[in-house]
Amino acid sequence: MSHDAAGESGTAHAGNNFLKNLIAEQIASGEQQGAVVTRFPPEPNGYLHIGHAASICLNFGLAEHFDGACRLRFDDTNPDAEDQEYIDSIQADIQWLGFEWDGAVRYTSSYFDTLYGYALHLIDAGLAYVDELSPEQIREYRGTLTEPGRDSPYRDRDPAESRALFEAMARGEYAEGAASLRAKIDMAAGNINLRDPVIYRIRNKAHHQTGDKWCVYPSYDFAHGQSDAIEGVTHSICTLEFEDHRPLYNWLIAHLPVPARPVQYEFARVNLNYTITSKRKLRRLVEEHIVDGWDDPRMPTISGIRRRGYTPGSIRTFCEMVGVSRSGGTVDTAMLEHAIRDDLNTHAARAMCVLDPLKIVITNWDEDRVETLEAAGHPNRDDLGTRRLPLTREIFIEAEDFRESANKKYKRLVLGKKVRLRNAYVIEAHDVVKDESGRVVEVHCTYDPDTLGDNPADGVKPKGVIHWVSATHGKQALVRVYDRLFAVENPAREAELLDGLNPFSLTVHKGCWIEPGAAEVAPETRLQFERTGYFVADRYDHAVGAPVFNRVVALRDTWAKIESRGE
Ligand code: ATP
Ligand code: MG
Repeated sequence: MSHDAAGESGTAHAGNNFLKNLIAEQIASGEQQGAVVTRFPPEPNGYLHIGHAASICLNFGLAEHFDGACRLRFDDTNPDAEDQEYIDSIQADIQWLGFEWDGAVRYTSSYFDTLYGYALHLIDAGLAYVDELSPEQIREYRGTLTEPGRDSPYRDRDPAESRALFEAMARGEYAEGAASLRAKIDMAAGNINLRDPVIYRIRNKAHHQTGDKWCVYPSYDFAHGQSDAIEGVTHSICTLEFEDHRPLYNWLIAHLPVPARPVQYEFARVNLNYTITSKRKLRRLVEEHIVDGWDDPRMPTISGIRRRGYTPGSIRTFCEMVGVSRSGGTVDTAMLEHAIRDDLNTHAARAMCVLDPLKIVITNWDEDRVETLEAAGHPNRDDLGTRRLPLTREIFIEAEDFRESANKKYKRLVLGKKVRLRNAYVIEAHDVVKDESGRVVEVHCTYDPDTLGDNPADGVKPKGVIHWVSATHGKQALVRVYDRLFAVENPAREAELLDGLNPFSLTVHKGCWIEPGAAEVAPETRLQFERTGYFVADRYDHAVGAPVFNRVVALRDTWAKIESRGE
């Protein structure tokens, strides 16, 4: 397992969960012999999201803990929505999270021959039949939770006939929906999944891995357990909605000549408030250009979270904090934000950046004078070195850090009062220059040369400290301040998904000023802009000399303020 150096905070998977405990018991009792083998089985029909991260941490974490193996298997039984782009992004995301799958990447589609053979096996054993009811009729015959289903008129057809028909289906001699292969189990079963489930259907569609070879495709249920068995998976872990499929999973394993007997276990999905974890809905945001692609920094996708500046370690820590349970629930996004804040507080070097600049002229500072001050890279990490901060006659401060008059609660620069420039001298404001509209465009100050690391001689300590950047030696930057994509706690519950969007999820600050060293960092470098928040140099748009930063997270949780922000 590889780790992102900046991302190590906490020990992922140190905690216990019910599956870890269960496997430990199975090993102790001798029920589990040999290596524990798990798998992560994404369907390549979208990018991975934070819910998938939970499943990845669980499956890879268990394998790691028990010194077993975790495989990556693309569950690619539905050629409709699947795409190579998704296959590539999923692999990149897993690797970025710091996990390595065992052996080669696997594909359910590479077992299509074997699965087809298994289907013939069931037919020959009288345990599957070709049904010529339409998909609608099949649904109608299936019954309800309170009523048993009805037998299809094709249910008792001769196995030899079914075999011939299934082979004809596979040769492409039927239209989509004209016939399907169903397992012959029990139309009166209380569990609807056992009412002769469809295990193969016709899809006249090329597949991204197998091309035109197949026009019949196995159902999820038929493919999944058998693929687990083929790969020697011991613990097939999925989410709770598959609990009712477990009897079918077991029935198929019991009736097929599979090489192993995997067992399915379920855990609750991880959902986050203020966002959505459904690939279908996320795809909609991408397709309707609500966001700037799957990896938009506001997306709950792993690639979006990465671009937002989260570290792999913070995501693993978050998954560890959430834990693994069998009772669902929604996790507070604040927990994810806490994980990255904690990580970056320890690991991110400090810098100064002014997002909304106001010019200060230090009138008792010579025009050409440049004094290079030193500041710590991090308040308590010597290993992060020091920064060089050029101080000049003209500097920028944050516009909101100056007022012509203010009450005592305002601890920043006020006309006629003093404030400390962070890592530098104390200045005092004397005059303002205004434009025609009366807006302050420049503030004239004097500095006190005896206040570098010292209080003014009059013993009056300035109340505030503000950040600043040299107007002549600083660099211009573009900074994107991101906030939550949705303003409502449960966007999936909105009548119209888009109604829940947060109109303030992105604010672009084009004319920012940043201390020179911070403009030189490599893409994906994370920094704390002092007093402002945690930021990351954008993975794609940032370049040395043309800095572009994304806000990862605010210094403190300011989310509660959103309610009043729109007014
Ligand atoms: P989606 O609804 O986003 O399409 P899915 O279950 O269809 O999710 P898959 O690609 O089939 O997506 O998921 C791969 C694995 O990740 C499965 O084992 C699935 O159970 C697990 N998984 C998906 N979503 C979550 C989630 N929110 N929490 C935990 N595990 C999840
Ligand atoms: Mg799925």
